Amino acid sequence: MGRITLDKVTKRFGDVEVIPPLDLTIEDGEFVVFVGPSGCGKSTLLRLIAGLEDVSSGEIRIDGQPATDLPPAKRGLAMVFQSYALYPHMSVRKNIAFPMKMAGVPQEEQNRRIESAAAALNLTDYLDRRPGQLSGGQRQRVAIGRAIVREPAAFLFDEPLSNLDAALRVGMRLEISELHNRLATTMIYVTHDQVEAMTMADKIVVLRAGHIEQVGSPLELYRNPRNLFVAGFIGSPK
Ligand code: ADP
Ligand code: MG
Repeated sequence: MGRITLDKVTKRFGDVEVIPPLDLTIEDGEFVVFVGPSGCGKSTLLRLIAGLEDVSSGEIRIDGQPATDLPPAKRGLAMVFQSYALYPHMSVRKNIAFPMKMAGVPQEEQNRRIESAAAALNLTDYLDRRPGQLSGGQRQRVAIGRAIVREPAAFLFDEPLSNLDAALRVGMRLEISELHNRLATTMIYVTHDQVEAMTMADKIVVLRAGHIEQVGSPLELYRNPRNLFVAGFIGSPK
């Protein structure tokens, strides 16, 4: 299960309110994209959900349970960082195993989950390599593998493809969409790229200066953008 609700969540850094009171519901299994210009609060919002930042006020619930005060490891969510967050001195297998080792998952279960993640991500032949011996796309798949083995209630992605060249980005988008189809797990995906938002999302959340400008399916936003800001961002003709 991976239903996430935010109830009047705010975030201030010092005197600056980066997120004014914000309400949002993400349904179990949804692929939700947070989109908006640089500095609008996408990463901050994701980090609040992940527990990497504390909310200034408001409540976060995961599957109905209060999560506002839970540390990241207790939220059952997995954040996928950019591929450079891999451990360079460890094999792919050990990189993927790392979070399970930390969580004390028994070795046999670790092996089962590694094999299954590697199969899903086309990494079976690369498990004994080190990150430096992989392509950018393969490294990104390892970073995703490290999230999958935790069997999270939701995956949180923060611009995971921004380091990759354009051709690779297209392929990785398809890989992530395919993974979502296969796992049917909630995914929250942050990007400033309209094409990614329009092609990957079940639901797009358009952010501007920390508040939600509009929420809807790609087609709803395209057909009925609420204002010129949304229209400009979504590329619709309004
Ligand atoms: P985005 O991911 O959409 O580019 P961010 O969430 O990173 O935006 O940032 C939103 C705003 O919050 C920006 O104005 C940024 O400067 C500010 N901000 C983010 N993190 C911090 C921090 N740790 N301390 C102070 N200000 C921050
Ligand atoms: Mg960001």
